Amino acid sequence: MGIMRGMMVTLRHIIRPPITVNYPEVERNVPIRARTNLLWFEERCTGCSTCAQACPDGCILVETAPRDDGTMEIVRYEIDFRICMYCGLCTEACPYQAIQAGGRYDDAVYDFTELYRNRGALTARAQEYLAEHDGRYPNGQTQDENPLLTSMPTARSRVPVAGAAGPFGPQHLPGRAERAGGSDEGDGA
Ligand code: SF4
Ligand code: SF4
Repeated sequence: MGIMRGMMVTLRHIIRPPITVNYPEVERNVPIRARTNLLWFEERCTGCSTCAQACPDGCILVETAPRDDGTMEIVRYEIDFRICMYCGLCTEACPYQAIQAGGRYDDAVYDFTELYRNRGALTARAQEYLAEHDGRYPNGQTQDENPLLTSMPTARSRVPVAGAAGPFGPQHLPGRAERAGGSDEGDGA
């Protein structure tokens, strides 16, 4: 009886379609919330560095410079994927969905140093992703549905944040013009 039961299981699976795919010729659809490689979308990034502070491995580097109007210009944005553990904390911390999981899950390279990606490399991959997905971010949104154009100096004013109406806070960093005017009392804080 045991042999018969075993044969029945085998026969049932013979007529079922296979659950495996012929990788790499065929790639399986990855769930949207899978912790695949990170994608950084420069057009959504304010340079606030929240992602870098949230990263337990310290693999995100953000360097900014203040613009005249007090907003921040992103000078460098780099991710060291050699030490990234794909925990996703940076994606959860980003207030603007500028860094999201959704990149390649088979991100293997021959040269280990290629896993250190600078702004240009990250943007190239993000643009590639958007081109392949009809301009849709991994979270399903498009830039039109959730507009945020932080590369424009006035963009931060479109994003309501706590403390936006007050004299201090991230929305009120003194710009170069203000500081040049001699208002440097807050600089020692
Ligand atoms: S996924 Fe985790 S380890 Fe990787 S950059 Fe984000 S916070 Fe850091
Ligand atoms: S990716 Fe997000 S959290 Fe990181 S600097 Fe840009 S806006 Fe801030």
